[in-house]
Amino acid sequence: MIDRIKVSNAQVEPLGMDEQKVAEDLNRHVSLTLGRDEGNESHGYLFDALALTVQDRLIERWRATRDRYRAERPKRVSYISMEFLMGRALSNAVNNLDLEQPVRQALSNYGCTLEEVVQEELDAGLGNGGLGRLAACFLDSCASLQLPVTGYGIRYEYGMFNQKIVDGHQVECPDNWLRDGSHWEVESPENTVRVKFFGHSEYYRDQANRQHSRWIDTQDVLAVPYDVPVPGYRNETVNTLRLWKSAATDEFNLEDFNAGSYTEAVAAKNLAEQITMVLYPNDASENGKELRLRQQYFLASASLQDVLHRWVKNHGEDFSEFGENNCFQLNDTHPSIAVAELMRLLMDDYLLNWEQAWKITSSTMAYTNHTLLPEALERWSVGLFKELLPRLLDIIYEINARFLTLVAERWPGDRARQQRLSIIEEGDHPQVRMAYLAIVGSHSVNGVAALHTQLLIGGLFHEFYQLWPEKFNNKTNGVTPRRWLAQSNPGLSELVTEVIGKEWIRDLDEIARLRPFADDEAFRIRWRDVKQANKERLVELVERDCGVQFHSDMLFDIQVKRIHEYKRQLLNVLHIIHLYDRVVRGDVKGMQPRCVLIGGKAAPGYVMAKTIIKLINNVAAVINKDRRLQPWLRVAFLPNYRVTSMEVICPGTDLSEQISTAGKEASGTGNMKFMMNGALTIGTLDGANIEIREAVGPENFFLFGLEAHEVQAARQSYNPDAIIADDADFSRVMQLLESGHFNLFEPGIFDSVVASIRSCDDAWMTAADFRGYINAQQAVSTAYQDTQAWTRMSIYNTAASGRFSSDRTIRDYSKEIWGLC
Ligand SMILES: *Cc1c(COP(=O)(O)O)cnc(C)c1O
Repeated sequence: MIDRIKVSNAQVEPLGMDEQKVAEDLNRHVSLTLGRDEGNESHGYLFDALALTVQDRLIERWRATRDRYRAERPKRVSYISMEFLMGRALSNAVNNLDLEQPVRQALSNYGCTLEEVVQEELDAGLGNGGLGRLAACFLDSCASLQLPVTGYGIRYEYGMFNQKIVDGHQVECPDNWLRDGSHWEVESPENTVRVKFFGHSEYYRDQANRQHSRWIDTQDVLAVPYDVPVPGYRNETVNTLRLWKSAATDEFNLEDFNAGSYTEAVAAKNLAEQITMVLYPNDASENGKELRLRQQYFLASASLQDVLHRWVKNHGEDFSEFGENNCFQLNDTHPSIAVAELMRLLMDDYLLNWEQAWKITSSTMAYTNHTLLPEALERWSVGLFKELLPRLLDIIYEINARFLTLVAERWPGDRARQQRLSIIEEGDHPQVRMAYLAIVGSHSVNGVAALHTQLLIGGLFHEFYQLWPEKFNNKTNGVTPRRWLAQSNPGLSELVTEVIGKEWIRDLDEIARLRPFADDEAFRIRWRDVKQANKERLVELVERDCGVQFHSDMLFDIQVKRIHEYKRQLLNVLHIIHLYDRVVRGDVKGMQPRCVLIGGKAAPGYVMAKTIIKLINNVAAVINKDRRLQPWLRVAFLPNYRVTSMEVICPGTDLSEQISTAGKEASGTGNMKFMMNGALTIGTLDGANIEIREAVGPENFFLFGLEAHEVQAARQSYNPDAIIADDADFSRVMQLLESGHFNLFEPGIFDSVVASIRSCDDAWMTAADFRGYINAQQAVSTAYQDTQAWTRMSIYNTAASGRFSSDRTIRDYSKEIWGLC
């Protein structure tokens, strides 16, 4: 039997990147790898063959990159995230490898376009929204900047659910994205690790009489890595996204076997395999679900073991330089159990003492906070921890005891403060506060936009800030200009490159050189032509997926993002109803014809968000079938919003809706994609909107609404009924809603929505911002009618988007947190 084979690097001829070699490989994969006969080649087979052709070329560079990292031994960063919202991979790989021309030629032999073939790929939807997409943009930037960063995540069998709309209601369908297999992943069974659950701790003394702990009588699960290549932009670097799949160990339930219950024992495999079965489709909170905690620990433990194994392979069990050579970036609190797990591995498996292990842990961990919503701050019951992860709970108690000693030294006698800061929330049902564990165990804590970081420091984490001001820092989010401009908007991309060269794709600050062209009338015409063509693409999407006819001469007003009360899709609906009311009353003076598109998924258990989806659909139905409205207003709800739809949406948008209640949206990244593609923003002073407005200038941004500090103040005496009564437009809108105009045959279904607008406790302050929003929308309409001025503003937006490249964000992480460059 052969235990190990030696893989030789030498004498493998580099694969050709020219048209002829690409065409040969494509044909070989169609006829040999896939075994197709002549006449068999559907787009599906062509996709498979092209993916294989591209994957071969990725793997070549992937191995070379790994060799380089092995030889150079740079400091390594592990980006640990429960979500990676990657979308499609083929067109990204073709672009980043600079294979577009040869691939187009090769496909033309089959009478096929690249655009047709890429449609065959399903999205890798291993994330909910912004947080997961950020992780994906970061990987692209790390590879493009040639940084040794590995992504660690979970290979969910079922990613984000597919959303269907039936009678205006959201229906969730499973996303079986691996059904036809994936061409991008490479299973790496030799790097399988074991993850422990249940059991109990045991203490023992070694020969030198030093005390140690071990975790015994556990039920183990295997973590099998599946590696996905992450190509940098035309730089020969291919980094790794390592996704873990859970599997049963072979020796499970030996007693059952011996008792003769063979089938029952085999069936028990399910429990292990369940861990990575499905992504939790909740963008804000997941309260108390045991399976979710299992997923989090599974990811943290497998990823840390992987890094430690590689270290030991290269350095033996000498960890004296581990801290300087590694960094773990925790994407939100989801993987923050990693703090306790690294302590456990270093102490129990490698026999370091507490002080040594703590020095390493607290200097390698870094935590990114993504939200201020209190319901999203994760807490796990101590009882659940004790059962599922008993050894980890021991360690968390010890971390907390030592931390509280520090608090007591800093603020002697302040018991109340100790309770407030404790990692363990006391009470009848004690809880572990995961964010506090992450803060205590990390050397860096960052927010994701300037305002968000300020609010963290001044509010939620203020007392931690007093203790450790040096830990806190801001890293404003960004998006990758490769996917979100170069690939998704080829028309604009070509135009930009024609006038300023192509350096902007690597260095988006270059795009500022576009600004003077706003004064060039011929250039403005071409800019508009590109936008017009992109709007036509969007018209087709809306026609196909919504059955609604948009018209590209109208203003395209778009809000796509998760459906959540704080994002205020409801405010958008109120504006739509207001426009409807105006047209019906014949008050159309100064009105700009609009097409309004709203899209996004609601968490399956979030009743209010689902009711808002139903409301949007009902309002759209009333408006779209009323002939009087046709010239003025068309409304559609786009089902199944995902990365692939955003790639068509943001290039075709005139107006980007970023209208969250101030102080609630940590950053937003949709806002950046739209800006980059020349949309203007209507928005509140929230998240990165503030920085977008600063960058483009206030005269090129439609601002409205309360500011974050005003929201706090206004809540004290908030009286929506009075606001509505004082505003004739608002009163008519509420009259339409409350009279059942949009739910004639479905009485009462919107009562909860109406009540939330009128509630003095409405945390989202929808009514407070109604008038400001309506006025800002009127300013938009007026501005849009001056085509020349609007086009200028559109160009200014793209030209000012340089600092919203995730390359800038990653350079900041790299310098200020990771210590890479
Ligand atoms: C960019 C993006 C998001 C984030 O949008 P926000 O407006 O920042 O909430 C969510 N989902 C998808 C598919 C995206 O591409």
